[in-house]
This record gives sequence, C-alpha cells and structure tokens, in this order.
Amino acid sequence: MPLHIETPLIESPLLGAPGRRVWLKMEALQPPGSFKLRGVGLACEHHARRGARRLVSSSGGNAGLAVAWSGRALGLPVTVVVPQTTPQRALQALRDLGAEVQVHGASWQEAHSAALALITADAALIHPFDDPLLWQGHASLIAEAARQGPKPGAVVLSVGGGGLLAGVVRGLQEQGWHDVPVLAVETEGAASFRAATLAGQTVDIGAITSRATSLGARRVCEQALRCWREHPVHSVLVSDAQAIAASLRFVDQHRVVVEPACGASLAVLAPQGPLHPVLARSHEVLAIVCGGATAGVEMMREWAAEAGVAAPVTSS
Ligand SMILES: *Cc1c(COP(=O)(O)O)cnc(C)c1O
Repeated sequence: MPLHIETPLIESPLLGAPGRRVWLKMEALQPPGSFKLRGVGLACEHHARRGARRLVSSSGGNAGLAVAWSGRALGLPVTVVVPQTTPQRALQALRDLGAEVQVHGASWQEAHSAALALITADAALIHPFDDPLLWQGHASLIAEAARQGPKPGAVVLSVGGGGLLAGVVRGLQEQGWHDVPVLAVETEGAASFRAATLAGQTVDIGAITSRATSLGARRVCEQALRCWREHPVHSVLVSDAQAIAASLRFVDQHRVVVEPACGASLAVLAPQGPLHPVLARSHEVLAIVCGGATAGVEMMREWAAEAGVAAPVTSS
C-alpha cells in the first residue's frame, strides 16, 4: 500500500468552455495537502526498506510536510531543518505531525547544508524535487488519471524545482502519450524553468520575488530541462496577481484552498485573458491541482487585499 491516496479526477464546467473539458486531478486532497506525498512517500518507503532509521528534510514547505507525514506512517523519526524565514504556521504544522524542527540559516541553501551535515549511515535525506524516486512516485498521478478519465489533449502543471514536471512527463511516456503537450507554469518572480529553457542549461536566477513560495527553487533540476528537450513542454508565465486571483476563485468554484503555487496553473485556465494556443486546440485538458498546505484562509485574505482582488472569504 503506497502512503499517498488515489485522488479524485473531477470535471470542472466552470474552468472549461464549449468544446473544451477541463479535468482537475485533485492532489490538494492528499493528506499532507499536496502531490508531494506521492514521490516523497515512495522515497521514504524505499529508504525504510533499506534500513534507514531516521528521515531528514530541508523543506519548511510541502515537501517537509510530506516527509513528516511519511515518517509518522512508517514509524521513523523525522528531522526538518528550515531557514529562519519559515513562517510560524509551517513550523507548527511540521511539529503537529511529530517532526523535530531545527531552524538554521537565512536561506534554504544554508538549511540544506545543515541538513546534509545531519546525515549518518542510518539516516536518509529526502530532496524536495531532484531525485528519480520522487519522479517515479509523482508519475503515479498520470497512471491514475489514465484509468479515471479520457486521454488529455494537454496537461497543465506548476513548476518549482521541476520534480512534478519530471514525474508527469515520465507518467505520460509510460502511457505512450508522447504527443500530449505539457504547459509548465511559473510565476514571473520564480521563473527558473523559463530561464533554463532560454539559456539551454539550468541557471541560478539569484532571488525569488514571488508570493508563490512553493515555486521558489532558484535553479531547476537537470531532469526538468531534459523533459523540455525530449517532450513537448511549453513554458508559461503568470503574474502573482493572476495566480492569487485564481486561487481565490478556486475557493469559490471548488471549495478548496490552494496556494498561489497551484493558482498559477489554474490562472492559465481562466476564461479572462488570452487562451494559450495549446489549450485552444485541446478538447480535454488535464490540470494538476497540486495544492499546498502553507496557505490558510487568513493568508488568502491578506493576499487578496495586497493584490487588490476581492476575497471570497470575508471576516465577519
Ligand atoms: C512543490 C510544489 C510545487 C512545485 O513542484 P516541483 O516539483 O518543485 O516543481 C508546486 N506546487 C506546490 C503546492 C508544491 O508544493
């Protein structure tokens, strides 16, 4: 039994249009709140079978939550090393799952170095996106969607470090769906995949200036660029305001809270604004609702005020 659950695939008439059906793969419903459990769960099980007695993560975000969840399920202690910038809410969520949290350094790079230093022979470090085991685990969402619904004409997903992209492309290839294009969506302030496609190699974009913190990898993994070379993958950018507005609309439309990291993908489906040509020719669109547990209702209100869009959830 894998640690992740099979998520619903639901059609969204609100995000679709005449001649174009949109199917939502509801990864937001994974117990720790995002698709990350698929790959992280598989990696944790793998290391547990090989004798790991301890799991370590350097992510204060959804990858850390997925490691904490997996450790709890496997009966293994989990240490998560996070930078000082990690919000209180995230630290509490990790502790609630029983993880030990160590705060170290000003940025993820420093926290990650500290996490590496904790690795002993019986401890496994779970990388948030750059690990073939992760990609294999994430690929399961395509195998599932293939059983649940029609062959898509296009897939829409968000890109941070590129682990989800690598898993989905692998899943598509396993189905023999080499012809199904992927729209790889980032926010403008976290566009490390776009930068890699322009440079023809992965590059460090230096700083992340987006509210979509779960997309905030300064450099994508090499595999993300390999996917772009070997599969039809189109880089798409949206603004933070578009991503946040899409997250807010999604609460109204589907009654599920998702991070702007996920809203970025949903923004591409918004009927307002120009339609990507790949979507314009697709009759069935598969959107990966990657989720994210670092945003609550309170945070949505703040973002809405900041972005100048109406909040679906108002204080009484
Ligand atoms: C991690 C994450 C992403 C990005 O995934 P990568 O594998 O890093 O590209 C997108 N959305 C959410 C909610 C995430 O947690």
